[in-house]
This record gives sequence, structure tokens and C-alpha cells, in this order.
Amino acid sequence: MWIYLNNRFVSRDEARVSIFDHGFLYGDGVYETLRAYGGRLFMLRQHLERLERSARLIGLALPLTISDWPPLLEEALRRNGLSDAYLRLTISRGEGSIGLDPSLCPTPTLVVIAQPLPNYPPHLYDEGVRLIISQTRRNLAEALPPHIKSLNFLNNILAKREATLAKVFDAVMLNATGHLAECTTSNLFFVRHGRLCTPAVGCGILDGITRNVVLQLARARYIETEEGTYPPADVFAADECFLTNTTMEIMPVRSLNDRPIGSGKPGPLTQTLQSAFRSKLPDFLQKAPGLLD
Ligand code: PLP
Repeated sequence: MWIYLNNRFVSRDEARVSIFDHGFLYGDGVYETLRAYGGRLFMLRQHLERLERSARLIGLALPLTISDWPPLLEEALRRNGLSDAYLRLTISRGEGSIGLDPSLCPTPTLVVIAQPLPNYPPHLYDEGVRLIISQTRRNLAEALPPHIKSLNFLNNILAKREATLAKVFDAVMLNATGHLAECTTSNLFFVRHGRLCTPAVGCGILDGITRNVVLQLARARYIETEEGTYPPADVFAADECFLTNTTMEIMPVRSLNDRPIGSGKPGPLTQTLQSAFRSKLPDFLQKAPGLLD
């Protein structure tokens, strides 16, 4: 496995980061997760722009510009012999003395990992996944803005632990006012009376790139969409529910806190959007190096 570390590709064994790296010490840094399909990257520009936004919001100067990334990501895929892959771009504040002040770290640490996609068993897409509502609430947006995709993931990890202990796929996190926010690494959708609903960005969620694609696909098919503020009861009363993220695409949900949602099977609107996603996928893929055109 070849990892890009700072300015070169190194073997996995050589890919070592200092114990004084502020990413390790404080979770000070940002990241993006990308997915390649046949060597082409899903919504590459949007992912790179979000990475830039995250870095800007924490005052971290990225060592690469948007146009530097495509050839580097292509090389990461090529060196690892991958065409369908998961890519993790991580930029931490870098190595520095102990202390919170970012100016202790003169140079950011940059890591690109390209590896095979996580294996979501196909039966999950056929049957849907089980969720719980976690006791852990989503961080207050005013405390840690969720649109910073930061290395500081403990909030979501605590919710994920609850899901693991409950032996379910994932947890729905509510925000501080008890309204639906999102799952630990995905956005939440539900369908009620034919209308596709999803918590608004203002509910304190990451504005997922797949979420936006799904909203676009729905609108193009004249499916009514709504971004709002919802109590958890709305999911219990929903006809369908699903999750979205870049690696999982559209994952149906069959139950919440062991209560079936709708028929308990992937519903018709979920299936329509899954097939729309698949058929429109080529439009969302960008090929290096001209992939930013
Ligand atoms: N919400 C959270 C907290 C996430 O971490 C992610 C993805 O990592 C998402 C939503 C989905 O975002 P995207 O569709 O851009 O992958």
C-alpha cells in the first residue's frame, strides 16, 4: 500500500506521523472522504471545495491548491492498483510543541490514503439497516460548526459506540433542541405522503455532497422535497427512510429503535432514487487530470 505523506509516496510502514502532531494531540485538522468509480472521482470539485472551506474555517493554509489535487489522487489510485476505491485526504495542523496555539506548528501534515472500498454487504441494500436514536446529541453548531469536516470526531464516535453496543448499524443524532440532525457519518432522509424530507443544514448537520445530489435527483423527477426542522416522531411516522454518504450512496433504513419504518422494506421512492443515482452517476464523475473542467 502506498500512502502520500507530505510530499511523496511512501510504503505503509514508512508512513509515520509525529506524536507531536496536533492532529494526534488535539484533533486539530480537517479531512475529506472521496470515492472513485472506475478511476473517476465522485463530485471531486465539490469535495475539494469543501476541504478548502474546512481548512479556511480553522485558519489552516492548505499546502495544495485545488488544481494540484487531481493528478495526486490519480497517482494514489494508480500506485495502489485501484480503480474503485475509497480515498481519505487528511490535513492536520502539523508537528509542534504541546499547546493549543496553531502557530506552534509551522507546516501542516498531509496524508492521502487510497484503499479498497469498505464492504457494505449487499443484503443491507435489499433489507435496509437498523438504527437507534443516540443519547449523544450532535455538537452545537455554535460550539463546533458541523460544516467544518474536522479530525475532531469524538462527538460522532460516542454516538457510534451507542449504536455498536445496541448491535445496530448506526445512530441518529438529535440536535440540542431535540430535532433530527444526522447519523454519525451520513445524512438522513425520510418520506411522508410522497414528500422527501431531510433536516435542514441549519439543524446543525454536515451539508453532505450526496445529500445535495439526492435532492437534485428528486427535484428533477418532480418529487416534492423539503428541508426542515423535524422531531424524531416524524421518522417513526414515515413511509420510508434512508441514509446518504459518498461511500454508501443511498442506504435504506428499515427500523428506528426497533420500530419498523413504513413496510420495513426499501420503499418505492427510495428505490426510484437509488436507480436514478446509478443511471446519472456518470454525470457526477470527474476524470483526472481534466477532471475539474
Ligand atoms: N454527515 C456526516 C457527519 C459525515 O461525516 C458525512 C460523511 O462523511 C456525511 C454526513 C455525508 O457527507 P457526503 O455525502 O458529503 O459524503
